[in-house]
Amino acid sequence: MVCLVKEELVGILRTRFGDSLIVDEEVVRAYSRDMSGVQGAAGGVIRVTSTSQVKEAVDFARDHGVPLVARGAGTSLDGESVPFDGALVLDFSPMKRVLDFDVDNHLVTVEPGVVNRELNNYLGQKGFFLPPNPGSWEMSTIGGNTSTNAAGPRSYKYGSFRRWVKGLEVVLGTGEVTRLGHYTTKSSSGLDLVSLLVGSEGTLGLFTKVVLRVEPLPESRVGVIVPVSGVRQATKAVVELSRRPWLGISALEFVDDKCISALNAVYGDTLPEAPAALFLEVEGSRREFESRLEELLNTLSGFELVGDPLYEENVDGMWDIRGRIAFALGKLYGENRYRDDVAVPVSSFPELVSGVSRILEEKGLEYAVFGHAGDGNLHLEFDRTKLSAAELDSLLRQIFGLTLSLRGTLSGEHGIGWLKLPYVDLEHTGEAINLMRSIKRVFDPKNILNPRKAY
Ligand SMILES: Cc1cc2nc3c(=O)[nH]c(=O)nc-3n(C[C@H](O)[C@H](O)[C@H](O)COP(=O)(O)OP(=O)(O)OC[C@H]3O[C@@H](n4cnc5c(N)ncnc54)[C@H](O)[C@@H]3O)c2cc1C
Repeated sequence: MVCLVKEELVGILRTRFGDSLIVDEEVVRAYSRDMSGVQGAAGGVIRVTSTSQVKEAVDFARDHGVPLVARGAGTSLDGESVPFDGALVLDFSPMKRVLDFDVDNHLVTVEPGVVNRELNNYLGQKGFFLPPNPGSWEMSTIGGNTSTNAAGPRSYKYGSFRRWVKGLEVVLGTGEVTRLGHYTTKSSSGLDLVSLLVGSEGTLGLFTKVVLRVEPLPESRVGVIVPVSGVRQATKAVVELSRRPWLGISALEFVDDKCISALNAVYGDTLPEAPAALFLEVEGSRREFESRLEELLNTLSGFELVGDPLYEENVDGMWDIRGRIAFALGKLYGENRYRDDVAVPVSSFPELVSGVSRILEEKGLEYAVFGHAGDGNLHLEFDRTKLSAAELDSLLRQIFGLTLSLRGTLSGEHGIGWLKLPYVDLEHTGEAINLMRSIKRVFDPKNILNPRKAY
């Protein structure tokens, strides 16, 4: 056993947290990184099991000036959950109970460590679902999803997490435990602090309970995989489809040929090989379903399809496949890849994809593009092995410059974390960033919660 937290503090922590405290060097090193690949340096890990333990940890951190980083599953892609400077990691994964399901009001109250897909499995048995289904939904937690304002394929119709979080129990950086939000479908009472905390990347408070609105499952849903002759045609089809809300499309995704080949090669999936493809979910009542699919195909026929669409009744299974793209690309092309997430208004999506592709091709980089196209949200991955730090920085500035010139944003869903921190001032004014930092000082006066992240 090697102790990384300052020797004199371990005794205090051990008395307060017992076996929930982990200081074993190997384990602590594993908790010192997330899926961004950024390597930090944690001081120790506490596997929290209750609100009172979380409060105890915050009080300890304030008293001893030790930073705290909340962790769900550590699937963040920009270093959101990476601890630096000997921070204590609070692992919320043991807090994974569904505490209450109020069927009549469509509200579920959970602890933050529950995994998104597992919550959806639970809700599905009762005829409900939680709409935002990030690609990582088989691993990522409701706490992490809330803290990053996560989204997924179905966010095309249903929006990101912020729309579904109705209430929070939260331990603030001051050590106070408080309840925020309301249970009603509408409220004009007070400032919307829940919305402020959703997407705050663990910098303002630590969630110990999350109240979510959930949705009854539609009568019918089907997945449709559409092979298209090229990236340009596929992205233009997205804009066309987004003008037709009556088709009942709830998810509208785009992938390029590299993603398809990687999924086929690594997972043995049997997707049609094509230069590009759209992944859609269509929902509705049985009565309207047939005519919706018919009009969908008529619309798509103007966009050079290169094969018959595949219909997938196991829609969640289709999203599991879609969610494995990053792993498949990593296995096939190597893990030393840069992964990014930018978003623009949907009408500019074709221009964003062609512009980003041009930038990467000019540098001779191997890359793949895919994303939640209906939301104008592009994911890109490229080989970074041949780039120096300065070259990577200059490349990212080009991509972000293009995105912002198209009225876009630096992150559609993953967050800013650590990796994108040097670029926030490209998007936000100095006044806006100062306001964010002033708000942080109110919630967390001693700057112990996930410092040096996000803004
Ligand atoms: C293969 C893959 C696919 C992905 N697809 C998507 C996608 O489609 N959409 C999307 O939005 N993201 C996606 N992501 C990114 C990532 O999964 C999300 O950001 C997710 O919400 C992180 O959840 P997590 O439980 O892993 O949180 P973590 O990575 O552990 O933490 C994320 C942030 O939340 C904070 N946090 C965690 N728990 C709490 C808590 N209880 N209280 C306060 N703050 C907390 C952390 O401090 C950190 O800032 C993907 C990642 C991978 C690896």
